[in-house]
Amino acid sequence: MKYISTRGQVPPVSFSTAIAQGLAPDGGLYLPATLPDLAPFLKDWESLSYAQLCEAFMAVFATDIDRVELKSIVERSYTKFDHADIAPIKKLSDDLFVLELFHGPTLAFKDFALQFLGNLYEAQIARTGNPISVLGATSGDTGAAAIHGLLGKTGVKTFILYPDGRVSPLQERQMTCTGADDVFPLAIKGSFDDAQAALKTVFEDRAFAAEVGLSAVNSINLARILAQCVYYLSAFFRLPAEIREDVTFVVPTGNFGNVLAGWLVQRMGVPIKGFRVATNQNDILHRLFQTGIYQLDEVAPSLAPSMDIQVASNFERFLYYAEDCDSAKVREVISTFKQTGKYVFEDFKSDGISSSRTDDAEIGAIIKRVYEQHGYVADPHTACGFTGDFDGPQLVLSTAHPAKFPDTIVESIGQDSTHPSLETLKAREIVKYAVEPTPAAIKAFMRAH
Ligand SMILES: *Cc1c(COP(=O)(O)O)cnc(C)c1O
Repeated sequence: MKYISTRGQVPPVSFSTAIAQGLAPDGGLYLPATLPDLAPFLKDWESLSYAQLCEAFMAVFATDIDRVELKSIVERSYTKFDHADIAPIKKLSDDLFVLELFHGPTLAFKDFALQFLGNLYEAQIARTGNPISVLGATSGDTGAAAIHGLLGKTGVKTFILYPDGRVSPLQERQMTCTGADDVFPLAIKGSFDDAQAALKTVFEDRAFAAEVGLSAVNSINLARILAQCVYYLSAFFRLPAEIREDVTFVVPTGNFGNVLAGWLVQRMGVPIKGFRVATNQNDILHRLFQTGIYQLDEVAPSLAPSMDIQVASNFERFLYYAEDCDSAKVREVISTFKQTGKYVFEDFKSDGISSSRTDDAEIGAIIKRVYEQHGYVADPHTACGFTGDFDGPQLVLSTAHPAKFPDTIVESIGQDSTHPSLETLKAREIVKYAVEPTPAAIKAFMRAH
């Protein structure tokens, strides 16, 4: 299997190259050159365990990785989950289900991809003998998931920039209380955007990148999307057989990454009925699906902070297919959007994806309603999935454990949500490093460590 760029200006590459590069050199995102048809496999895959299913699925894509090695990579990626099903389904009523994606080490769905990516990196280092330095910037969940995905991997040093005082206390503890001496949480004075800007400049210094073996844990890495495809397959198999083809998957989304993974699975021949994109008050995707206009707006910080984004980077992958694989059209849309902050589609093909929006004023009320009706505590991101009227059976993807957002939970239902792993963290020492958000200061710190 070869991988192509959505912008069509670089030759196809292997799986390992696509993963190692993250972003394609023409600025596009990698996709499989052709999407396989999974329909013939479904009967055999239905009875597999989560890790077996992941191995079978990944083997279709990671064709340049030895199958025995792939099996070992996959098996190690799901050992730190605290539920035997890895991605269990909870039934709230006959036509309302929740897919719990928060049983990994940092209690948010990003663990599914970053545990796997950490093991892919480790295998790559073992193959090449070249150690790497991972540098990333985070507003919370991604940094924590990346640190825990890379923790203890031989040959990896992890540097994560985050805005001091602007991530939640528990997210900070997940990054700073690991006790590991090859993990460096860098608290910067400034915003996430300052961190992101400095990081970009560091990556542009080719000589420095080569010197330290610089690598990114990019949210646009195809390995992350593919790892997320597996829980859509697993969920499809775990739904009651008589209704599974009638269930709409509701996905709390910011970057369009999570829902894209499900939509790809559907496009590969798995008969999922359809998807709903559930945004918070930062609703660029909701507006797009309602009006066909993709238009930038200010980010308004919300109670569901991991969905506070302006530009949904993974939308480019959907766009590529929506425009019938026309890379020139993708380039035109992206460049117009970059220049003007807006693109008006003449005839936007939503491909059956519907959308909803939930603002902060509604999130607390939804958490309360879901708790009163079903005895179920949803985190503020998941709450966005419970908005509005449902048409037919629904599966809401729960992207984080409620204990990560204790203030909103207490305010909504009058009682605390806790998790043992977070309680343990509260007793541990915080180790973080204050660094100026300048490329020079970051490079000096990385060289010194
Ligand atoms: C990252 C994140 C999201 C958004 O995921 P996308 O892939 O950007 O759609 C939603 N909820 C939580 C808890 C997250 O950490």
